Amino acid sequence: MYAIEAASLAKTYPGDVRALDGLSFSVEQGTVFGLLGPNGAGKSTTVKILTTLAHPDAGSASVAGHDVLAEPAGVREAIGVVSQQGGHDREATGRENMRLQGQVYDMSGADLERRIDSLLEQFHLTEAADRLAREYSGGMQRRLDIATALVHKPRVLFLDEPTTGLDPEVRAEMWEEIARLRGEGLTVLLTTHYLEEADRLAAQLAIVDKGKVVAEGSPDELKRELRGDAIHVELANGAADGDVATALDGVPGVTEVMVEDRALHARADDGARTVPGVLAALEAAGIEAAAVTVARPSLDDVYLRHAGRTFSEAEAQTDTADQEESR
Ligand code: ADP
Repeated sequence: MYAIEAASLAKTYPGDVRALDGLSFSVEQGTVFGLLGPNGAGKSTTVKILTTLAHPDAGSASVAGHDVLAEPAGVREAIGVVSQQGGHDREATGRENMRLQGQVYDMSGADLERRIDSLLEQFHLTEAADRLAREYSGGMQRRLDIATALVHKPRVLFLDEPTTGLDPEVRAEMWEEIARLRGEGLTVLLTTHYLEEADRLAAQLAIVDKGKVVAEGSPDELKRELRGDAIHVELANGAADGDVATALDGVPGVTEVMVEDRALHARADDGARTVPGVLAALEAAGIEAAAVTVARPSLDDVYLRHAGRTFSEAEAQTDTADQEESR
């Protein structure tokens, strides 16, 4: 039995915003699964449906063996949720926050206190336990949210963008905490728009774009799918897609070409050997290169291949759409 199963989920928000467009994936028990996608891909909407906070227009889903529509109470008992906003009461201490969570789930007495003490220790909050949460640093607050979500021993933990807004060092610390959750039988669904985060933490991941899963597998499998190296050329003055494709037509070693704004993304079996030919062909066509890099495939390249645009480009498009929406 899968810990999470989502089948053909669809959800349209008012204004004809298609947040989910037939999204499906399955998560094995006891693993960390990553939902990776740029802002606006539909990750939070998926989490809302799986945690019974929103209804899908179509499709079905189950969590820990309970159907999200038919048995929402069963789902809620089996899950812990750390939302992007965080859930703690800033005017209560860390320990009080955790105690309240236990009481919501009918826990009390020595059992509850033992559970709280052990989680405080696991998340390095023992010393800060009796201070008000508002006095905690950003990283401590995030750790408190995870510890609190685990008080009632959920079988499935949802972490929605757990490191967004954190400093790089604090983010690295959080990655260690999340990595430590593995191996305790807990299933973790992590949503993120950080490629590196998914790469490091997720055993399996689904790349989500425009409300659909466009690729699924382990980070290594996804990267292995991409044969050879990625060549990225920054074009000094930009160029039309067709012009670049024509210029590179027949250059030995080049297997794929994509142009985006002022960047040319190509693939080649042997990047280093292919670059001179690429540059010569561009020069012959009067297209000026400003910078060139050759790299082993990254998840960014995987995303580019399946979504037809780079991650940063997708995020920029969403930002523009959001600005237009708020006008
Ligand atoms: P992600 O978590 O991947 O950033 P979301 O699930 O939050 O994506 O959003 C998917 C799409 O649905 C976006 O276009 C977003 O603007 C839209 N959306 C999300 N929530 C609402 C809402 N409550 N009302 C209208 N549109 C929404």
